Amino acid sequence: MDASDSQPSAPASLYTASSISRPSSCSSAPPTDQTSTLPLGLPTSPLFEVRQTPTAGRAVFATQDILEDDLIWRSDDLTLSVVLREYRREICGHCFSYDRGRDLEIRDKDVGFAFCSPECQDNWRTWNTPIGIQAWTAVETLTKKRTKEDSDMVDQDLARPTRTEIKKAWAAVEAQASLIRTAREAESDPTIQITKQHRKAISRALQAAITPDVMSFCVSGLLFNYTHPSSWDSVLALAEDKTPYHSTEDLAAFTRTYLHLLAILPMPLLPLTTASTLLILSSRDSHNSFGIRSLDDEGSEFFGYGCWPAASYFNHSCAPNVEKRRVGRAWEFRAGRDVARGDELCITYLSGEERRLSRGNRMVRLQKTWGFECACERCDIV
Ligand SMILES: [Zn+2]
Ligand SMILES: [Zn+2]
Repeated sequence: MDASDSQPSAPASLYTASSISRPSSCSSAPPTDQTSTLPLGLPTSPLFEVRQTPTAGRAVFATQDILEDDLIWRSDDLTLSVVLREYRREICGHCFSYDRGRDLEIRDKDVGFAFCSPECQDNWRTWNTPIGIQAWTAVETLTKKRTKEDSDMVDQDLARPTRTEIKKAWAAVEAQASLIRTAREAESDPTIQITKQHRKAISRALQAAITPDVMSFCVSGLLFNYTHPSSWDSVLALAEDKTPYHSTEDLAAFTRTYLHLLAILPMPLLPLTTASTLLILSSRDSHNSFGIRSLDDEGSEFFGYGCWPAASYFNHSCAPNVEKRRVGRAWEFRAGRDVARGDELCITYLSGEERRLSRGNRMVRLQKTWGFECACERCDIV
């Protein structure tokens, strides 16, 4: 969850050996052949096409001349989203609107979200379904009992856990997870024998520290999987970050959350609540999330983040020819200047002030947050 702005992705199936796992910046190399099988979630339009490139993964190219300010793409394919807990009273849980820090009038204390209008509250409830409402209520009940435990401020300078460490950490909680799962199944199946060991596994999980924003991330992703099973492939098709956790503590927050959720989520969500699903969510979100920011003030306020798979196909350039703007729960992409047929369409992953950083500082920022060395036209001129 780098959650700063956005990152492109390439479907794993499209990667060549030389471009594996790291999407890179705007490519000046000529595109190669179009793939024959398009992954779910890929944006399609008469204005552009997505093609594989030799050096920059897949990329979006204009198929006709586009005039400045023309609407190029609208992404309303939100999968999961997180409104940071500290902003939950100020940001509409559905359309992410914000009234300069004022608390919104409609608050649903049971689920822990606020809304800008009764319509947004209704739409939120429809989107989440009754099972989702039960899930958010369970999470809110657990979180409200605890105070100031939030440890989501992760220092990005800490070493990221390796793939082996990640595998070990998830494997280490599986025995406890299995006990909790069995104990939960016994709630509706009297033939399952529960022992002291099972009860202990649940109480240990519930006593562990809570990281509310990690919990929101996991619940939002699990619910998307539950309510939109046919769209899950669009999440799977996103570029995978195999080391998505910022630090050992970040990883531990996820494994703790796994156990918490097994202990409290409504039963229908339990089969989906697996280490594997949670790892998929982390690895796909890591380089593909878009920041949910204030719409004025150059987006200086960061309220949370979400994952819109189709929007992830635009590569980065420090001199982008496409400008993106959030409109409620959707993103609009407009030409920032006239674009010629054949040009690559690029956005910037840098937020407001970052766009004015020096070349060196931009490079460091892009490498650190998104894991690639920028080779865009602005960075390439030395
Ligand atoms: Zn709203
Ligand atoms: Zn650049």
